[in-house]
Amino acid sequence: MAMPMIYDLTMPQMEQMLAERGQKSYRARQLYAWLYRRRVHDFAKMSDLPQSLTADLAQTYSIAPLKVLDKQVAHDGTVKYLFALADGSSIETVLMHFSFGESVCVTTQVGCNMGCAFCASGLLKKQRDLSAGEMVAQIMAVQQDLDAENRRVDNVVVMGTGEPFDNFEAVMDFCAIINSDHGLAIGARHITISTCGIVPKIREFASRHLQYNLAISLHAPDDALRSQLMPVNRAYPLAELMAALKDYSTQNHRRLTFEYILLRGINDSDEQAVQLARLIRGMNAYVNLIPYNQVAENGFAPSSEKTILHFYDVLMKHGVKATLRTKHGEDIDAACGQLRARYERNKNGE
Ligand code: SAH
Repeated sequence: MAMPMIYDLTMPQMEQMLAERGQKSYRARQLYAWLYRRRVHDFAKMSDLPQSLTADLAQTYSIAPLKVLDKQVAHDGTVKYLFALADGSSIETVLMHFSFGESVCVTTQVGCNMGCAFCASGLLKKQRDLSAGEMVAQIMAVQQDLDAENRRVDNVVVMGTGEPFDNFEAVMDFCAIINSDHGLAIGARHITISTCGIVPKIREFASRHLQYNLAISLHAPDDALRSQLMPVNRAYPLAELMAALKDYSTQNHRRLTFEYILLRGINDSDEQAVQLARLIRGMNAYVNLIPYNQVAENGFAPSSEKTILHFYDVLMKHGVKATLRTKHGEDIDAACGQLRARYERNKNGE
């Protein structure tokens, strides 16, 4: 059994752990400062903590950085990391440079069980959930590279491999840890969680009144097509999904993002744009149109640029705000799960 990671602990959990060791709560803040501000990987270096405590912690918790198995850098500066976890599993993390800052795309599970037809992540079934600390460690590994250039992780998108709401508590803890003022202090409004639409968890998320952004992977304007593309829709059809989202908006007053990948000849017609507009009109929401990153294995193709722009116009004309996502890392294995899928295949000699 690998040691638990110290990165697993939220501030209240850290205080509790230290209280059990007879320590005052301010020690938790000191520990957070060492971990997340000075970013040390050795308890012995935490010079303002009692030596007996740091020795004890070193016996109990790991702060080992993630092992880098592969790192691809695209022409636009996008970096795709393939990390090894303590148990030997591999996961992907992506760093993207935007005008508004450095953005990291975090993985939440080893593999994914949602089975979306167009996605490379689902090529490898879920093996396990990641712990909060394994998500924090992804941010820390990227931040370590950025430290060399005096830059920092400004934004986090929980859009890597896995379904965050299928690993709900660990993802909530992860967000709380990176959001903590005593640590990395990444603003809640700079953290976006993307879900394929697990309705009970959307309702749970709404009830917590958190300030993180919520994005929904929609990808189809009707149940028949959505169930075909995204099996989760069979459990939680559009009417239930939209009702939960409307309740979220009423309770939280936050703007929602709908993600919509444009797949050639599948979901990119004029009628579908109108249907989509009808579904969303009146909500405090906008649609993020995503160019499809082709995955060799599944036969879908991206819509042409002309179609994408036209789809955008139809949405706007029908009173729905839309944005076009720019492509990042086109010359590397940037589609969700592509790098990992290739690595795992090679490892197994396929
Ligand atoms: N499970 C979550 C988060 C991970 S997927 C979710 O479904 O939202 C993050 C986003 O990437 C989703 O919108 C997903 O549909 C999209 N995506 C998956 N494969 C893609 C591909 N090949 N090209 C473009 N976007 C893709």
